[in-house]
Amino acid sequence: DMDSVRQSALDHLWMHNSDWITMAEEGGPSIMVSGDGVRVTDSEGKVWIDAHGGYASVNAGYGQTGIADAMLEQMKKLTYFPQGTTTVPLIRLVEKLGELAPANLERVWPASGGSEANETAVKIARAYHKRRGDNGRYKVISRRGSYHGATGGVMWMGASAGLSDFEPAMPGMLYAPQPNFYRCEFDSSTPSECAERSAKAVEDLILLHSPDTVAALIGEPITSAGGVSVPSDEYWPMVREICDRYGVLLIADEVVTGFGRTGRMFAMEHYGVVPDIMTIAKGITSSYLPLAATISATYVADAFAGEDNVFRQALTFGGHPVTAAVALKNIEIIEQNDLVGNSERMGAYFLERLEELKGRHPSVGDVRGVGLLLGLELVRDRETKAPFDDSLQVSKRLTDKMSERGVIMRFSGDKVTIGPPLCITKDDIDEIVSAMDSAIGEMESELSL
Ligand code: PLP
Repeated sequence: DMDSVRQSALDHLWMHNSDWITMAEEGGPSIMVSGDGVRVTDSEGKVWIDAHGGYASVNAGYGQTGIADAMLEQMKKLTYFPQGTTTVPLIRLVEKLGELAPANLERVWPASGGSEANETAVKIARAYHKRRGDNGRYKVISRRGSYHGATGGVMWMGASAGLSDFEPAMPGMLYAPQPNFYRCEFDSSTPSECAERSAKAVEDLILLHSPDTVAALIGEPITSAGGVSVPSDEYWPMVREICDRYGVLLIADEVVTGFGRTGRMFAMEHYGVVPDIMTIAKGITSSYLPLAATISATYVADAFAGEDNVFRQALTFGGHPVTAAVALKNIEIIEQNDLVGNSERMGAYFLERLEELKGRHPSVGDVRGVGLLLGLELVRDRETKAPFDDSLQVSKRLTDKMSERGVIMRFSGDKVTIGPPLCITKDDIDEIVSAMDSAIGEMESELSL
């Protein structure tokens, strides 16, 4: 029975953003049992609309039985075989990824999650310079406020809060500004000015540290953490040019943004920029199974060809044939249902509705996003952009109020990132926005705003 299941969760489970004491006080964790499209059903029979799409990762939506069929078919043929040899689904998948990725990004190293894919990208970048005799390049630039994963190396990229528990940090981490106009680190009167000054800061950082010490810059084309940050058009072409000028490899982290999330197959397409290395995860299988990949340009990968020259790394589950079969079926569903186009169209509609919310609610400081990667930032004072005092617990209030309204939407630090399944409809969006409207209204009146 579900009571004993819930008790077992409290006794044994240790998971993201939760602790068993708080969970027990709240009556135990929500236990999800089934899903369909943008909705999931919990063990009590309550139906939720998932505005997060898992971790902005269930691109094709829940309940795609075609994916389950593809998985079973491959499972029955061959459940697993490691790399070194290979399997048909993996070959078909890397061929397909070569087709989808921009020209030149052709060489695919499979992994199991976004963190692993980014670790791999950084290792490739560092080793690439060494293979070319450029031995001093090991530093990696990331942008403050970004997130690139949870494992030993990449957790230090992006300079997120709360890392002090895990010191010492990985050596060679350099941090550049996030080109977010609403909170720009530079005095800037337009998004373009913020973008240009943030890009120029990358060059200053490279020069300060000397170009021959810098291996790579890693960044999400459009940043999902912190309520989404969309750089204006100038930013990525400028950063691309700066990386080229100083021999620094550009790694695009498309873990969230890939597979239609921003209304393009990959988000760098918005900027017309091709990175040297691109990482993908999440949407590649719509989270049906864990799979990720690091895709390198041919000129990067070719530094590792030939006897005694290979890139040294093994990941037991990387390129698992069942996950590859799932990815292929998932990509087919995304293409056949034009989910990339739907993401662009529904994203534009969603953003319009969020703009209306901002018009009605003084606490909504900023709304932003592209496609179905959308964000919202709450402020105590719209003029000064002053945040709410922590003691007011605005994030928790709103998360709870959304939960009461049957919407999964977790606010964090008074910001929220919205990334629903790409099959979402206008009616679903209206339902989410009207829940936000009343939840924010209620919060504002509780705090007498
Ligand atoms: N990169 C970005 C941009 C992410 O948002 C995430 C996870 O949310 C990761 C990397 C890490 O991926 P994973 O959680 O699959 O290891």
